[in-house]
Amino acid sequence: MTDLTTLGIAAIRDGVRDGQFKAREVAEAFNAKVAGADALNAFLVKTPEHALAAADAADAARAAGETLKPLAGVPIGMKDLFATKGVATTAASRILEGFVPPYESTVSQNLWNAGAGMLGKLNLDQFAMGSSNETSAFGNVISPWRRPNDTAPLAPGGSSGGSSTAVSAGLAPGATGTDTGGSIRQPAAFTGISGIKPTYGRCSRWGTIAFASSLDQAGPMARDVRDCAIMLEAMAGFDAKDATSLKLDVPNWEAALSADLKGKRVGVPKEYRVDGMPAEIEALWQQGIAWMRDAGAEIVEVSLPHTKYALPAYYIIAPAEASSNLARYDGVRYGLRDLPEGAGLQDMYAATRAAGFGDEVKRRILIGTYVLSAGFYDAYYTQAQKVRTLIARDFERAFEQCDVLLTPTAPSAAFALGEKQADPLAMYLNDVFTVPASLAGLPAMSVPGGLDKDGLPLGLQIIGKPLDEQGVLNAGLAIEQRAGFTARPQAWW
Ligand code: GLN
Repeated sequence: MTDLTTLGIAAIRDGVRDGQFKAREVAEAFNAKVAGADALNAFLVKTPEHALAAADAADAARAAGETLKPLAGVPIGMKDLFATKGVATTAASRILEGFVPPYESTVSQNLWNAGAGMLGKLNLDQFAMGSSNETSAFGNVISPWRRPNDTAPLAPGGSSGGSSTAVSAGLAPGATGTDTGGSIRQPAAFTGISGIKPTYGRCSRWGTIAFASSLDQAGPMARDVRDCAIMLEAMAGFDAKDATSLKLDVPNWEAALSADLKGKRVGVPKEYRVDGMPAEIEALWQQGIAWMRDAGAEIVEVSLPHTKYALPAYYIIAPAEASSNLARYDGVRYGLRDLPEGAGLQDMYAATRAAGFGDEVKRRILIGTYVLSAGFYDAYYTQAQKVRTLIARDFERAFEQCDVLLTPTAPSAAFALGEKQADPLAMYLNDVFTVPASLAGLPAMSVPGGLDKDGLPLGLQIIGKPLDEQGVLNAGLAIEQRAGFTARPQAWW
């Protein structure tokens, strides 16, 4: 019998529906994989019973002759930024240690309503701040990938590093991610999987621990484009509890998948050529352009002139919003409370926040508070907001000439853990290609395109017009079909 953990979401769904195997067998197989992969540190909490209960419900529904739900029998991993009722939720921070939400996030609830089960809560960069998963208070996630003849642990990308690792190591057929400046796309690229950040407002932010509210979006990470489409359909949808949620029906993205790009124009932004970018990434980009042409698309060069200001603007806006969002962790309402003997309220706030937040989170709170302070607000925050508008306008103009944009996802393949941790600016540079679409709220996806000289995955990014997830998914499918990317990490854990 085939190893059920080699199957993706569509294959599991179809196999359960057609009676090729039981959902319970699928859940048991993935639970066993998860239990045997502690060396990767991808899971902060394991919930095998949740996966089994959802599987049993799927099997019972099938036995009763009912129509199965869209994700019946599919177990997934849940990034630990989504509040899950009765299951510890920490955002990988000590300040939320011991927090067990009495409510369920809308995105996770939507997935359970669609029949999915949960394998566990996935490790991440603390409060989703990072690009390598090294800011987690509960240890790094280790990428399942390695360079040849080298046991140096590599970064799985961040902040959704637990999600990227779980999917690429075959511990889960799909996982949720969140993307504020690239945290779905960059980890997907580093680990050879697919991931899509939908248009801002497609997925409810309710019950997702906030980092930078005007940027945060949930999305799926999975083995291929079809699986992303299936999972996104379940996650997305209007939610009255999120004031920025879009009041729109969820399209049937899976049904409309098509790799035929005839009549489509693919834009190649010339500003996405950065100094020091490895030749292999440029070569992959050229290959991607050739694949698009082969799929019937016309290629046009476009200009996004404000691209070079995107990263500095992001690293003002995101910390500003974070400093405000994270003010709620004060030792009163959630998780950790550090109340020194005889201390007053202010002392408790200070002690709790000093003990509970990690260094990167503190750095962002300090930067954010600084750029929002009376003396510097206009110089930094207002200026960054203006830049954000210019970046959005760049995209609007570019989309007068094309339907989607094609770029590399990240300026490098996965780096070694520790390699960039001492230099925040080098770390922030990882986000150079992903941040602009976040600032503009656009749908964007990473699909694996090939391997570098060390056999490590490289991703291509497709950016679409607002609400055109279909165009993004279809272009992604065209690449996927031509790249024939089948590489998987060799299990060493
Ligand atoms: N790496 C970026 C940051 O550190 C993006 C993180 C994210 O998208 N959550 O802010």
